[in-house]
Amino acid sequence: MSIRQSTDRPEGPKATDPSRMEVLLQSVEPPTRSATLMRRVGQRLGMERAVIDELVNHQQVVAFRLPCKILGRVIIFGGVMVLHNNARGPYKGGIRLASDVTIWETTELARLMTLKTAATGIEFGGGKTGIRVDMAEMYRIFGREGRDRAFEKIITLDAVECFASAYRDLFAKHIYIPAPDLSTGPDEMAFIYNETLDPASVTGKPEGTHGWLPGRRESTGYGVTFVTLRLLEEILHRDVKGSRIAIQGFGNVAQPLAQYLADLGAKVVGVTDIFGGTYDENGLDIQGMVEHTQRTGGVEGFGKRSLTNEELFALDVDVLIPAAIGHVIHEGNATKVRAKAIVEAANMPVTMEAMDILEQRGVAVVPDILANAGGVIASMEEYSRSLSAIKMAKEDVLRIVRDRIGENLDLSIKLSRELGISITEAATQLAVERVYEVMVRRRFI
Ligand code: NAD
Repeated sequence: MSIRQSTDRPEGPKATDPSRMEVLLQSVEPPTRSATLMRRVGQRLGMERAVIDELVNHQQVVAFRLPCKILGRVIIFGGVMVLHNNARGPYKGGIRLASDVTIWETTELARLMTLKTAATGIEFGGGKTGIRVDMAEMYRIFGREGRDRAFEKIITLDAVECFASAYRDLFAKHIYIPAPDLSTGPDEMAFIYNETLDPASVTGKPEGTHGWLPGRRESTGYGVTFVTLRLLEEILHRDVKGSRIAIQGFGNVAQPLAQYLADLGAKVVGVTDIFGGTYDENGLDIQGMVEHTQRTGGVEGFGKRSLTNEELFALDVDVLIPAAIGHVIHEGNATKVRAKAIVEAANMPVTMEAMDILEQRGVAVVPDILANAGGVIASMEEYSRSLSAIKMAKEDVLRIVRDRIGENLDLSIKLSRELGISITEAATQLAVERVYEVMVRRRFI
């Protein structure tokens, strides 16, 4: 594909175009980082506006209301499933439960999956599901007080079971292959398997369940660790031993990540989650913090000094790793970031505006579509080997994660240097080219 330099600003969608989904939804997608980057890249590659639109837009969106019987009551959850692009393989993307799920956030996350699977050369497309579960409201409806993690687990499992029962055929026919995301994990994936009885219909299944994959649980955190190491060595020219790391979030991704980094000799000095945080100049004891979190539900109260999320972002560290939720580093706090580099373990933790500010300030960012792709790379192995009687060794799965991310990180760094663009934009360009080529070949455009 020929590359044409352009300094024009990318054109956004027009809400008046009658074929657009925005008209059907009576809402216009707000400017998002992934769409902005894809439009920039499409223009640089000399693509027509209509072609860029096809790459950016989702193929289907299902907004649903999900009646679900929980503890003898019918609760109706709202939700949205976005099937963004299946040019390169089945729609692939996690199921997240959160109180603030929206169509457009889910669309951006699904688009991100299309970019992530393409940027790492995985034969999947992109999709995402968000189910609106407001835990505070659940406590109120069921008249419960205080934190009750067994109660929260019942709500979570039942919501996912109802979703799996409603959309069973999509999974069983391998049209959409779900996986864990915020507030879901292996237990919830087992409930999807219970519905389909097909080990390839869902990934992230728990150990011992038909078609599970050793190493899948640690794969995302492992991939983030590998990217952090490469960043320290090649961009910051710093040894991992003694390097200072701050992490937001302490869940599925962050716990193995923090442990891997500590094992390599890094000092994880600050960790925060939704309830609070903790700081230790000499490096936190990760195993102790995992046990504390299992006991109390969060990191708050562990260690000597507490820490807020905004304080975490301003810590003087080598690498800041947001591993919780999206849009946490934005125009309002990007200038306060003192880290030398950021690795995006969460999806879209850095907004487009913050991305530009950080780039101007010389803070390197490795984007989510490379940094947290370990999970989807392992998912590809779980999917394709799900009927095999021979289990892969965990080390072999993690080696595949490392090789896939490493190869595409190299390509992205090379392209970013050649074109004088950020690593994020370069990785997006690799992905857009790969999706575009298959869409043309399959006559999607
Ligand atoms: P999780 O639910 O296991 O953990 C999330 C963590 O973030 C928890 O510690 C929680 O307390 C914290 N958190 C939530 N809201 C917060 C807030 N407002 N402020 C501060 N902390 C907050 O989720 P996870 O599976 O570890 O996923 C974390 C991120 O990584 C998400 O953005 C997810 O989309 C992304 N991701 C996950 C995977 C995976 O394999 N699980 C793969 C790729 C990307």
